[in-house]
Amino acid sequence: MGSLIIENANLFIGVDEEVIADGAVWVSDGIIKFSGAVSDLPAGGENVERYDALGKFVMPGMTESHVHLSYNNSHPQQLNSEPLPVAMLDAVDNARILLGSGFTSAISFGSAQGLDVPLRDAINAGRIPGPRLAASDRDLGSTGSNADGTFGGDSSKKIIADGPWAIRKAIRSLAKRRCDIVKIFLDGEALSEFAPPGVLTYSDEEVAAAVEEAHIRGMRVVTHSRSAAAVKQAVQHGVDVIGHANYLDDEAVDMLEAKRDQIFVCPAIAWEITLLDRGSELGLPRDAMEQRGYQKEVDETISAVKRLRDSKVRVLVGGDYGLNITPHGTNSKDLEYFVDLFGMSTSEALLCATRDGGAAADTSGMVGTLEEGKYADLVIVDGNPLEDIRILQDHSRIVGVMKDGVMHCALMQKNPYIAPDE
Ligand SMILES: [Zn+2]
Repeated sequence: MGSLIIENANLFIGVDEEVIADGAVWVSDGIIKFSGAVSDLPAGGENVERYDALGKFVMPGMTESHVHLSYNNSHPQQLNSEPLPVAMLDAVDNARILLGSGFTSAISFGSAQGLDVPLRDAINAGRIPGPRLAASDRDLGSTGSNADGTFGGDSSKKIIADGPWAIRKAIRSLAKRRCDIVKIFLDGEALSEFAPPGVLTYSDEEVAAAVEEAHIRGMRVVTHSRSAAAVKQAVQHGVDVIGHANYLDDEAVDMLEAKRDQIFVCPAIAWEITLLDRGSELGLPRDAMEQRGYQKEVDETISAVKRLRDSKVRVLVGGDYGLNITPHGTNSKDLEYFVDLFGMSTSEALLCATRDGGAAADTSGMVGTLEEGKYADLVIVDGNPLEDIRILQDHSRIVGVMKDGVMHCALMQKNPYIAPDE
C-alpha cells in the first residue's frame, strides 16, 4: 500500500463541528498518519504523492446503520422474492452503490438467504467494492412475530425460534455461519395483521437467552423495537443497537441515558416518511396508512429523537433503504430528515452519520473520524454539506470515496474502475 497526502481540503475531521479551511490528510498504508491544518503537516512528506482537493470538502466516510443489502428495490410486500443467484448479483450491486454514495461502513439489520457473510468476505478480500459490513443473516423472531410473515417470506428469509433453547440453537447456527450481527424482532409493525408495535413477541427469558448466547459467540445484537416496552426490554437485556425506538416513555429514556456509552439508537424514519408520501403508488394510500398509525409514528419519533438528543444518546443515520420507494443509493436522504424533521444542525447530522455511526459499526474505535491512527475511510465532496446537507444525495458531488486507504473512483457507473493507489 502507498502513501498519499490530500491537500487544499475543506476538512471535517468529525470529532466535533470544526472545519479546517486549509486542511490536509496524510494517508499511509491505509491508516491516517496526520489530519489537520496544512501548516502543521509533519516533516517527511516531501516525496509523498499529493492529491490537490482544490478546496473540496473532505469528511469521514459515513455509516449506514441499518442496512439490508439483500433488498432489491422492490415493493415492501414482495421483498427478497428473487432466486438466490439473482439476489446475490443484486446484493453485489447494492454494496457498490452504497460505497459510492459515501458510506464506507454498514451494519446489517438482516439479509435474506444469508447473503451478507459471503458478501462481506468478498468485500474484505478486495474482490468487489463495498462498505465495511457488519454482517447478519436472516431475521430471528418468534412464531407470530413480525419476522413471521408480515411482509411474506419463507424460511429463506427468516428464522423462527420459540423458547430459550431453540433461540440459543438458532444463534449458534448463526455463529457457525460467521455472522457479526444477530437481528431479532422484539415487537411488530403497524402493517401487520397480528404483530403490531407494542406487543412484545419475545419474553424476557427469551431475549436474555438471545443476547447472552450472541455475546458468548462474539456477535452483537440489533433489534426491531418500536414501542417503549420493546426498547426497555432491549436495554434491560443488553442489546447493542436498537432499531426504530419510535415510542418512548420517561422510563425508556432514563434507561437509554444510563447506558448511552454502550448503546445506539437508529430511528430509520425513511420507511414511515416514504410510505406516507408514496404509499399510494404501492396500493397503500396515505389515508389508510394514517389510520394504521404511521403518521402518529412519525410524530412520536420526532419527539423521541428530541428526548434522546437531550439525554445525549447517540442517534444513528440510515435504515430500510432498498425498497422501491427508498432505493439503494438514496441513503443520504436520512441526513436531510435529521435536519428538517429532527431539527438538527447540518454538522450534528453529519456527526451522527460519521463519528457516531462509526463507533457503532466498529467497536475497536478505528472508524468514524479522520483522527490519526484510524482507518483511512473518507469522502471527497464537491460542495459543502454543512451549507446544504442535500448535496450528499447528489452522486455527481461524491467525487472520491476512500476506504482502507484505497481510493474508489466512478463507483456509480456499472463496471466501476477501482484504482488502488491512485
Ligand atoms: Zn429494517
